Amino acid sequence: MDKTIFETFIGLEIHIQLITKTKIFCNCRNSFGDPPNTNICPVCMGYPGALPALNKEAAKKACLLCLALKCKLNEKAVFDRKNYFYPDLPNNYQITQFEFPFGIEGSVDTALPDGSIKTVRIHEAHLEEDAGKMIHDRIGSMCDFNRAGTPLLEVVTKPDFKTGEEVEAFLLNFRRIIRYLGVSDGNMEEGSMRCDANVSINYIGKGLGKRVEVKNLNSSRNVKLAIQHEEQRQAKLLKAGEPILQETRLWDDDKKRTESMRSKEDANDYRYFPDPDLPPFATTPEFIAELKSMLVELPLARRNRFMSEYNLIQDTAEFLTEEKDKADYFEEACKKGADPQNAAAWLKGDVTKVLNREKMEILSSPLDIGRFIMLLDFVEKGKINGQTAKKVLDIIITENKNPEDIIKENNWEQVDDSDSLMPVVEKVLAESAAAVNQIKAGDMKPVGFLIGQVMKNSGGKADPKKVKELIMEKIK
Ligand code: ADP
Ligand code: ZN
Ligand code: MG
Repeated sequence: MDKTIFETFIGLEIHIQLITKTKIFCNCRNSFGDPPNTNICPVCMGYPGALPALNKEAAKKACLLCLALKCKLNEKAVFDRKNYFYPDLPNNYQITQFEFPFGIEGSVDTALPDGSIKTVRIHEAHLEEDAGKMIHDRIGSMCDFNRAGTPLLEVVTKPDFKTGEEVEAFLLNFRRIIRYLGVSDGNMEEGSMRCDANVSINYIGKGLGKRVEVKNLNSSRNVKLAIQHEEQRQAKLLKAGEPILQETRLWDDDKKRTESMRSKEDANDYRYFPDPDLPPFATTPEFIAELKSMLVELPLARRNRFMSEYNLIQDTAEFLTEEKDKADYFEEACKKGADPQNAAAWLKGDVTKVLNREKMEILSSPLDIGRFIMLLDFVEKGKINGQTAKKVLDIIITENKNPEDIIKENNWEQVDDSDSLMPVVEKVLAESAAAVNQIKAGDMKPVGFLIGQVMKNSGGKADPKKVKELIMEKIK
């Protein structure tokens, strides 16, 4: 698309499944992967006379995210019925919030890959129930109602995005935020976070275009690809003077393009009206105070603080603040005396490598903070060298042992006394006449090789600094 002629507007509708013990209006379990139709009851199956009652935990998590997104909370949030027929919807209406959602008028800051900060306005955030799930196979179509009535929070942004890249970065940040708050696990592949993208283009300066809503996007990458595809498709239509239809399109992941699904329905079609079975939800000062006590520092703010407080480069701070657990672990280690640069380097490097290999999370792994600090301390004090420390780390994690025991059992303490190292140095020098002559002629390149040979001959335990000293002393 020619960006000197056209500009793009993108707004998102993001659905996130809230983590709660029970469903939004009944006591059925809210859990994924159980046998079909085992978590159902008269309320979530829409039996006549069954009455819904709002789950406080769902309301709390919804409002917590609203506050984190800097939304104003409506003093009285109202639940409405959105009427339509579909086999996965037992009541023939979905309970949602229409005119008075929990949160309105917020904003979110996201760091873009070029380093700039993008602020996107949040239009509103409302709580609603999810529908059941249709399963189509050779026998026919079936419905699993376990998901019917599970709590969904829908967050709607203003059409503030300009490119697919901005949206991709935003979604990664948004996922971090909801995980930091513990309101959802934000897994797009598994559908616990779903995103519809509204895309329009127009000649520059002409304002918003006719929007197309794209659904069926199961990764932030696909959201980006779908947006880019829509930009091309719509630009071609506009250039040819053809109309852009306001419609809902589906992303086809095999063909990497969007396809028309249906023309866009109007809010009027749904005959929204307040649900007579549910009272409005009124916030109280106690409720808001409790929410405020549950708020945590968000990933971007934490990244920036890590850069200033611990003097970390952006890349490292970004890595450490990806997940709250990791950031907490790092800060706890620093509080207990670890050197921030050192701790960050180990966490980003070998610790992550081994944990990934063993498919472990840092907080539940055998590398507790005490062991981690001790390991760093041993390297710092010269008890073991860096190479040995990597081996020790591996054993701590795979065999759940203490670093000092591992070092003792394997006799891995670093050797740095001249008396035991000198004979090894002499042997290596005697065997490497060419290298020695090169150094004598003023070319220092082979020094590294000689140090390596001594390390090898000492079972990896020698102190490399000391070895270098001895080599130079001997050659002179
Ligand atoms: P509806 O009420 O039909 O769902 P909304 O006004 O709630 O429409 O908007 C839904 C989403 O579409 C929002 O994310 C909004 O930012 C986005 N949107 C609205 N108009 C446009 C447009 N012309 N171009 C791109 N996105 C738009
Ligand atoms: Zn139920
Ligand atoms: Mg809408």
